[in-house]
Amino acid sequence: MTSPYDILFEPVKIGPVTTKNRFYQVPHCNGMGYRDPSAQASMRKIKAEGGWSVVCTEQVEIHATSDIAPFIELRIWDDQDLPALARIADAIHEGGALAGIELAHNGMNAPNQLSREIPIGPSHLPVAPDTIAPIQARAMTKSDIADLRRWHRNAVRRSLEVGYDVIYVYGAHGYSTLHHFLSPRYNSRTDEYGGSVINRMRLLRELLEDTVEEVAGRAAVACRITVEEETHDGIHREDIEAVLGELGELPDLWDFAMGSWEGDSMTSRFAPEGRQEEFVVGLKKLTTKPVVGVGRFTSPDAMVRQVKTGILDLIGAARPSIADPFLPNKIRDNRLELIRECIGCNICVTGDQTMSPIRCTQNPSMGEEWRRGWHPEFSRPKESDSRVLIVGAGPSGLEAARALGVRGYDVALMEGSRELGGRVTRESRLPGLSAWNRVRDYRESALAQLPNVEIFRESPMTADDIVEFEFQHVLVATGATWRTDGVGRWHTRPLPIAPGAQVLGPDDLFADRLPDGKRVVVYDDDHYYMGGVVAELLRAKGYDVSIVTPSPQVSPWTVNTFEVNRIQRRLIQSGIERITDHALNAIGVGGVTIADVYTDSPREVECDAVVLVTARLPKEELYLDLVARRDAGDLASVRSVGDCLAPGTIAAAVWSGRRAAEEFDAPQRSNDDVPFRREVTELAPL
Ligand code: ADP
Ligand code: SF4
Repeated sequence: MTSPYDILFEPVKIGPVTTKNRFYQVPHCNGMGYRDPSAQASMRKIKAEGGWSVVCTEQVEIHATSDIAPFIELRIWDDQDLPALARIADAIHEGGALAGIELAHNGMNAPNQLSREIPIGPSHLPVAPDTIAPIQARAMTKSDIADLRRWHRNAVRRSLEVGYDVIYVYGAHGYSTLHHFLSPRYNSRTDEYGGSVINRMRLLRELLEDTVEEVAGRAAVACRITVEEETHDGIHREDIEAVLGELGELPDLWDFAMGSWEGDSMTSRFAPEGRQEEFVVGLKKLTTKPVVGVGRFTSPDAMVRQVKTGILDLIGAARPSIADPFLPNKIRDNRLELIRECIGCNICVTGDQTMSPIRCTQNPSMGEEWRRGWHPEFSRPKESDSRVLIVGAGPSGLEAARALGVRGYDVALMEGSRELGGRVTRESRLPGLSAWNRVRDYRESALAQLPNVEIFRESPMTADDIVEFEFQHVLVATGATWRTDGVGRWHTRPLPIAPGAQVLGPDDLFADRLPDGKRVVVYDDDHYYMGGVVAELLRAKGYDVSIVTPSPQVSPWTVNTFEVNRIQRRLIQSGIERITDHALNAIGVGGVTIADVYTDSPREVECDAVVLVTARLPKEELYLDLVARRDAGDLASVRSVGDCLAPGTIAAAVWSGRRAAEEFDAPQRSNDDVPFRREVTELAPL
C-alpha cells in the first residue's frame, strides 16, 4: 500500500554511501562528549534503531587549539581519543545507521582554557562569539594554515580508522575557523585568504580538497556551512551562492546551517517549524549533490513538502530526533499519533550549555539510556499485579501513568479538574508557548492506547477517598502553586505588603483573575521564562507594565535556551519597561519600593498592582496525609513526584514521573548508592 510519506523512505546516495531513507540526524551537542562516551554511544544507537538513516556525533575538536572548555564535546586530538569514537561509531552501526563525524576546528571561538594554547583565527580579534573571556586570537600565518590542514587530515584519517561513513568539514554556526575565514565580519586579511569571497573561501576549498583526497572514496564527505549569519557584516546569501558556485561539486553532501547555534535552534516561542526555509530555498539548485537542512521538523507533511518542492533531499533533525528517536519508524509504520513532537523549548540545549548530559522535556529517557537503562519506547515488564493510583494529570502524573501503563500495570489516573495537562495546559495559553501542549497531547494519545490505564477527570481526591479504593500504591502528582509573598532567591522571608495592596501571582492570571487598574509591576525573581511571559501577557491585555528584577537582564537563565536576547528585544518592542538590578523591597497601595541591588538605594515605582513571579510551593498536603495513612498501615506505598516533590521545570516533572514508573517494584536500593552508572576516567600511568 502506498502512503503519502513513501517519498521520505527513498534511499539517497551520498557519494560512496547510500542512506536507507531521508531521515538524517545532523550533528548535535549533548553535554556528554569526551566525559560520557558510552552514554553517548547508547543515545546515538537508539536513534539509529528508531530509523534515522544517518546518525552523527556532535562537533569533534580536531586539535588542542580548538578547545572550547568548559563545554564538553568530543575530541579527536590524537589516538587516545579513538576508543571512545569507535564505540560511538560501532553503536550507530549496530543500530542500523550510517555514522557521521563532525570534525571541527573552533578557531577564534576556542578560548583554549584547558589547553592554554593561543587561539587562532583569520585576524587579530578577541575570542568570539561564544565567550567574552579576556583572551585574543592571533591572526594565522601561512604556517598555521599548513598546520591546520595537517591536523584536519590527521583527524580524517583517524575517523576512517574507527569506521565513520560520513566525514564532515565544518564551517557553520560561528564555531568554526572555516566560518571565521568565510565571514567578512571576522576576516580582515589582505592576503589571498581575505578580501574577495573567492579568497575568503580558499581555506574551505583546501580543507575540502584535502578531505576528499584523504578519504579516497572510503566514506562520504559532508560540508556543514553557514547560509546566513544574521548580522549586517556577516555571511549572507551572496556568499553561500558563491561558495556553491565554486565548490558545489567538491563534497558529497551539503548540510545547511545558520551562522549561530542560537539562530539555528530557535525556540517555538520565537520561531515556527521550518524557519530556515527562507534562507535555504533555492540553494539545492546550485549543486548536484544532496542537501540536508533542519527546521525543527516534526510534521511528516512538512517534511514531504521540503522534498517535493526541491528544498532539501534529506530531512535533518537534531531536536525532533531528541524528542522522538523513533520518529522515522513511527512515520513508516503510520503511527503518527504516537510521535512525541518536540515542543521547541530548548531544554536539550541547556544540558550542553550547563555542561551536563542532555535532557529533554518530551523524552525523559534522553541522556538516561546507558546510565539508567531507560528507553524512549520500551520499559521492563511489570513485576507484580500491583495496581497504582496516580493523583494529578500534569506532566509528571501523565508520564508516570504512561510509563507504568507500558510496563503493564493497572493504573487509575485521578485528575481534579476537567482538563488534563496541569501546568502544561495552563502555560501553553501564555504568549508564544502553545507548542508546549504537545507534552500533554502525546501522553493523551499514548494513554488512549493503554486499556490498563483509566483516566478519571473532575475527581479531586482526599486521603480518605484514596484509602477507600483498593489501590495499595499511590503516586501523588498534585503540582505546585506560585507564591504571592515575595519569597524567592533575593528575599527568603515574606515581603512587607500593605493591607489593601493588590498582589497577584501567575496562578491568578492562569485563572483569568486580572489586576484592577492600569499600571502593573511584574517582579521577576524566578529568572526563567515566566516573568517575561507574564509581562508580555499583561501588556497584550493593555496594561502599562514594568518588569523589575534583581538580575542584570530579564530571564537571564534563558541564556541557556538561547532566548535571553530575543526576550529583551520583545519586551522592549512591546513597550514594557525593564528595571534591572533592582529588588522589590515593599509593596504599598498605589506603588512599590524597589532598591538597587548593589547600593541598596531605594526608589518608588507607582503602580496599581504587583504580579510576583518568585517561587512556588509544592501542593503536598495530600501527600503528607497519605504518608500518615501508609504509616498507619492503610497503604503499601506513597511517593510524590514532579512539582509536588519539588517545583522545577516541566522537563524535570516529566522525568520525575518516568523515574517513579521505572523504579516501581524495582529492588530497593540504598540512597547511599550512586543512583546511576558512571564512566570514570581511567588513570594514566604515573
Ligand atoms: P506536575 O508539573 O508535577 O505534573 P502540575 O501542577 O502540572 O504538576 O499538575 C498537577 C495536577 O494535579 C493538576 O492538573 C491538578 O488539577 C491536579 N491535582 C492537584 N491536586 C489534586 C487532587 N487532590 N486530586 C486530583 N487532582 C489534583
Ligand atoms: Fe524539543 Fe524541548 Fe526536547 Fe529539546 S528539550 S528536543 S526543544 S522538546
